[in-house]
Amino acid sequence: RGGAVAVGRRVAASHRVAAIAARRFTHAELWAALDPLVARPAFRVAEVGRSMHGRPIRAVTYGAGPTTVLLWSQMHGDESTATMALADLLAWLGDPSDVDRALRARLAAELTVVMVPMLNPDGAEYFQRENAAGVDVNRDAARLATPEARTLKALRDSLRPAFGFNLHDQGARILTGRSGRQVGIALLAPAADERRAYEGARVAARLVAAGLARVTEAEIPGRVAKYEDDFNPRAFGDLMQRWGTSTVLIESGALPDDPEKQRLRAINVVALVSALDAIGSGRYRAADPRAYDALPMNDRAAVDVLVRGAHVVFPGGGAPMRLDLALNFDEPLARRRPRLREVGDLETAVAIDTVEGAGLFVHLAPSMLETDRAGARRLRPGAPAAFTLRRGPAPGSEPVRLPPFLTPDPQ
Ligand SMILES: [Zn+2]
Repeated sequence: RGGAVAVGRRVAASHRVAAIAARRFTHAELWAALDPLVARPAFRVAEVGRSMHGRPIRAVTYGAGPTTVLLWSQMHGDESTATMALADLLAWLGDPSDVDRALRARLAAELTVVMVPMLNPDGAEYFQRENAAGVDVNRDAARLATPEARTLKALRDSLRPAFGFNLHDQGARILTGRSGRQVGIALLAPAADERRAYEGARVAARLVAAGLARVTEAEIPGRVAKYEDDFNPRAFGDLMQRWGTSTVLIESGALPDDPEKQRLRAINVVALVSALDAIGSGRYRAADPRAYDALPMNDRAAVDVLVRGAHVVFPGGGAPMRLDLALNFDEPLARRRPRLREVGDLETAVAIDTVEGAGLFVHLAPSMLETDRAGARRLRPGAPAAFTLRRGPAPGSEPVRLPPFLTPDPQ
């Protein structure tokens, strides 16, 4: 298993598809990068459906082994991290050179790996969650009203894969229950019904998830969580499990200093190489399910920044008030463009970053205030955050340095 992790790390660096360098890219850009890679003899490529706007949805197959594994990414159009990782995996699996050929050959003999990178190309075009009809495809697994959902269901029915990987991204404002850190990776072996028992396909899914828990926790300690397992009768992960495919959900969250999710892309590569190896070799059966069970939950929703305990000075508004400020970034991954979310007693709020303001004074920029017809000023709800932190209530009192993410952009 350690071998596969080492290979995965190497692949993430050496076979990174350079044409896909940031997390927003179109179907045309993706396939311009993938076409030469999947033309290699290692692969079979098939159009398995078309999006509402007619974009081809393609499946790329590697290997001819007895165990079929189906991986699909970007069912939500703005969740592209795993698509980048699948591109890198394809670059490696089709590589005719000698690098890690032994593992590639073994996977090809043990597995039939079917990848659908970018299941929702129209959503990717607009970088939105839903498809072009405005439908969340992951709530269409039962009704199958959308062509994207029908494509995935038809593929599952024709392949009857033993294993499935449902590859998503989650928000940047979710913390692990235990460490209180931002969740980098969340894992789930979805329930197949309301009872949420570990039986049928879910047993193997839990073991694969346990292996993934160990591998990813070693990459990003304290930043791996378990996704809540309430049964959702309209979602693909849950229904795949019910239909008999042992399915694992991998959610890529956020890491510090990873605005384009390139580190998470690499971790997805490591995770998927190790999971394919574990499934192919059968070693996943020896995993300890407690490694998955014991993961902390995808737990507390956080605000991006809390300025705690300071007094806020309102020009012409009387005595300064002791108010906490909660701020969210318009660009949470890049931690740019903070905006006021809530003001008041926010003792119970949880933040990714906290600025201690006790004994200090917040001086609001004029842009955070609105003036009414009578000339009275009030705080502007949702205003972009623009303020200084000073040692006194007087406008000229000594300023205190703010962290870089609260320092306004130069423009
Ligand atoms: Zn998603």
